[in-house]
Formats: sequence, C-alpha cells, structure tokens
Amino acid sequence: MSTQPFATDPHSHAEPHVIAVRHLDLDLEVDFDAHRLSGSVRIDLERHAEAATELVLDTWRLDVTDVTLPDGTAAAYHLGDHDPVFGSRLAIAVGSADSVTVHYRTDPAARALQWLEPAQTSSGKQFLFTQSQAILARSWVPLQDTPSVRFSYDATVRVPADLLALMSAANPTERSGTGTYRFSMPQRVPSYLMALAVGDLEFRPLGARSGVYAEPTVLDAAAHEFADTEAMMTAVERLYGPYRWDRYDLLVAPPSFPFGGMENPRLTFVTPTLLAGDRSLMSLVAHELAHSWSGNLVTNATWNDVWLNEGFTTYLETRIVEEVYGDELATMLLQLYRQDLDHLLAGLDPSATLLAQDLAGRDPDEGATRVAYDKGSLFLRMLEQAVGRPRFDPFLRAYFERYAFRPMDTATFLAHLTTELLEPAGVSPEELDLDAWLHGPGLPANAPVWKSAAFARVDRQVASLLTTGAVADLDTSGWSPYEWIHMVRALPRDAGTSLLADLDAAFGLTQGRNDEILVEWLGCAVESGYAFEVPRVDGALADFLTRQGRVKYLRPLYRALVSTDRGAARAREIYAAARPGYHSVATGAIDRIVDLS
Ligand SMILES: [Zn+2]
Repeated sequence: MSTQPFATDPHSHAEPHVIAVRHLDLDLEVDFDAHRLSGSVRIDLERHAEAATELVLDTWRLDVTDVTLPDGTAAAYHLGDHDPVFGSRLAIAVGSADSVTVHYRTDPAARALQWLEPAQTSSGKQFLFTQSQAILARSWVPLQDTPSVRFSYDATVRVPADLLALMSAANPTERSGTGTYRFSMPQRVPSYLMALAVGDLEFRPLGARSGVYAEPTVLDAAAHEFADTEAMMTAVERLYGPYRWDRYDLLVAPPSFPFGGMENPRLTFVTPTLLAGDRSLMSLVAHELAHSWSGNLVTNATWNDVWLNEGFTTYLETRIVEEVYGDELATMLLQLYRQDLDHLLAGLDPSATLLAQDLAGRDPDEGATRVAYDKGSLFLRMLEQAVGRPRFDPFLRAYFERYAFRPMDTATFLAHLTTELLEPAGVSPEELDLDAWLHGPGLPANAPVWKSAAFARVDRQVASLLTTGAVADLDTSGWSPYEWIHMVRALPRDAGTSLLADLDAAFGLTQGRNDEILVEWLGCAVESGYAFEVPRVDGALADFLTRQGRVKYLRPLYRALVSTDRGAARAREIYAAARPGYHSVATGAIDRIVDLS
C-alpha cells in the first residue's frame, strides 16, 4: 500500500512520492557533556517513481559528515540553506540503491532535544528527552519529517552506564549494565512519533500490558496515580477495537516537560503535574491512550489537518472518562471544555478558528490552539447526537480499522463520513452544516451545549456566597477537581480580595496539590489583584511558574500577569529567572507574551 496518497506537505522538504523512507536503523551515542547525539542512520528506501535517483530528507542544523551507499562508496549529497523553522533540505544521489547511510551529529541547540542538568531532575542525575512533534524530529534524525510517511525502525543507543534509555519502541525494564541499548519498533510510525528518553529511570508494572517509568523518588507516586491504566485500555478496546501497539507504558518526564502528555507509541510521556495523589487527572492519560487509535493509527496527513488527530482524541478522551468514571464526571469535563472553547474563540482572529487550517509557511506549533481539540471534539459530538451512538460507535471503530497505519486528510474524511455514516443514516451534510463546521469560523448553531447538574449546584452555592460572604456555609464535600475549577471560574474578579482570603484560609487553595485547580486559583489571584497583596500568594505563583514548564499552565498565568502594569513587571522578573529551566517549546510560547528585551 502506498505511503503517500496525499499532496505534498507544506512543512517538509521531502518528496516521498518519488522515494520514500521505509525503515530506519539508528546507531547513536548520547553525549551529555557536549549536548550532542552522534552516529549514523541507515535508511531503507521505497521507490514510487521508477527511475528516481534522488532521496530528499529534512534536517535541522545536522552536521552531516558522510553519506555512504550499501557497497561502501560515498554518495554525493547537497545540504540546502538553513531556515530557522523548516531547517535544510538534504538531497542525496542514491542511484538505484535500496538503502543509504547518513553519518551525522546533532547541534547543541537541536530543537527536539532537552538536556537537563542534575539540578533540574528529582534524581540529581542528567536527563535527556526528545519532543519530535510537530516538525522537530529533523533536528535529531535526518528523515522525511511529514506525518504522511510511515516507517519502522531499529536503534542502538549508547548512554552513560548508570542511566536507562527508552524509545517509542519495545523497551527494556532494567539497566543494561553497559549503557548500550538495542530497540526495535516493528509498527510503522510517522516521524513526529520518534522518541528517546535517557535518565535515572526505573520501571513498575501496572497491569499485564502496562507499566510506568519514573525517576526513583517519584516512582511510587506514579504507580499509585496511574493504577487505572489497564482498566482504561479495556474500556477503549470495548468501544473502538483492539490496541495495536502491544504495550502501553507511561514515562513521567521531568517538570520542564512542556506538554501534558506526548503520545509516543508504546511509551506516552506525561508531565509530573498529573501526580495529584488522588488519581483525579486521569483524563489526560485517557487522552494520550486514545491517540493509540486517533493520531498514531490514523494520522493527520499534514499539520493542516491536526484536528483529525486532536479533535478525535479529545472526543475519545471524554468517552473513556464516561466509561471508566461515569456520566456525571464526563459531563462536567465536557462543560469545562466548552467554557474553554468559548473563551478561546472570543479572543482569536476568526481565521484562526477553522478546523481545516492552512499553515503553509508557518511553524505548525505556532498555529496550534485548542480549537483543533475542542471544536473538533464538539463536531464529533454533534455527529454522534445526529445519528445516535448505535450508528456512530461502529462507524468510528470501522474507520480506525480501515485506515489503520495510514494518513488522513479532511477531504478524504468528509467523503468517508458521507458514504459510510450520513447516507446510511438518511442525514444530509447540509442539515448538519458540515461545510460551516469544517471550513467556517467560530461555532455553528448546532454545536452541543452541556449542563452539568453538579455545576448547577456549585453555581447556586457561589451565588449565595457572594450575597452572604459566609465561606463556612460552602458545602464542598465530595467535590471533584472539576467542581473546584468551576467554582474558581465562577468567582467574579471584582468580588473583593477579602473574600478570596477567606476562601484561601478555609480551603488552603494556594497550597493546593492539584495543579489543575491551582492554575485556576492563581489566575484568579492575579486577575483580582489578590496575588499582589499577599506575599505568600505571590511566592506561590513564582514557585509554580518556576517548578514546572507545562505550557498550558504557563501561558494563561503570564498572560494574566502582563495585562496590568504591576503584573507585567513581576512577569518579567519571574520569567527571567525561570526561563533557563523551560523547554524550547515553552520559551517559544512565552517569549511572545513576556518581553524580556
Ligand atoms: Zn492530543
């Protein structure tokens, strides 16, 4: 089956419709002192144009020292000009060879590689992790850096003997003793799912097919937090068909990890901010696990169609939460996501609110917002409501089966949707306003709205609190984190800082261990001025912005700070100190908010 049925990817130099990458065999040495990977990659090729003799790859500041053909002779190659976002085009004269080997080393500034010093980890040892999505893989491997191309891979990786190496592949559970590790990934993956982590890591099984890797001091907490993982796998398989990747393990990344999670196949990387102690943030694991179907199995052909990855995955996430934790919690989550989306849409240029995007010429990370996630998920909810679950669930299951290990774009999905779901159900694309959903701004009128009964109870309590000021009357027994978040969001920012002080005294919100609640609370504290009045709150804010580097938490807090003169000065102080510990994905986002110059 062709790996390239789609048009050229605007974010890649590669020409896979001529010669495509089919398999990689990496041999890399990890040098923590020089912040470099060095070695070689043998690339097995698949010809799509008969007489083709030129292989085109993506690179980003790779120092290519030599390119050789299978008979050992040197191959001519040309490295194009460097672009800060797209890197350099590497063209290799491969003749009729069916493989080629590139000898290279990475740049210390490689965008995918985060090198952590001992002081930045909980183990006190060095740590390296990669983040290849969206187009950063080219900064550590010369390859065709487009999600429309899939390949299998093997790798030999040499690291310091006291560290464990892991990849998005079959993984060891113990140190090798020598520091040399051999990996194999038989399932074909796109480049953005190439991943490597090296650190003082230990393994703990969670179930027959699942386990967790973490630094020793957080391993117990991680094993406790993620105990429901196997139950979640069973729940998704019941809905959407078999898990196709053999194992599902989690890696708790260091605090500077810029995302909630990264769905690297077989080994999801997650932020330690999930370790709330009460298993209350498992929706994020549900999300990353769901990517094993939507994204990793059926993959957006280019980053213009990222909603096909993230919208489907967010829909699946909420279905998994419903399966495992019940309808009431799922409805709260859906309502929070709808609040987030309405808030986001109100502040975005309409052109940035489309599901199908045109990001040509731009860094796809820059065009990434929650629109693809939450509008995409609402679109699928709308379809589900229009045809009913007895039709919709088998449709999705068959979609994952039919397009497994293949790329997908919006036009192909729309055609599939029309013939496989809408026509059999007797529903027309016009009555669902499909064109407006896929190609129009904002939200169409038939977007689902959620009314959680639990949130309505919170709203009534907040209304009464604002009248009486009697914090002691609040009945918070049995509240989930979602109810706490909803409560904080419902507090008017001009309600007076003495009310916030009373709430803080009663519920210890500034010392809270659940970071999802804490980020809402600190945002409220900044917007109301409470954070500037109480040194303890200001200190907690600075600590939170320094001890973790998750962009989802950093962005709203820095935005809230810079919206006032007093806050802007404080934002500059905090950011100047915290910035060296952040990942490049995070500094890229926050540099656009806080002006340090
Ligand atoms: Zn996702």
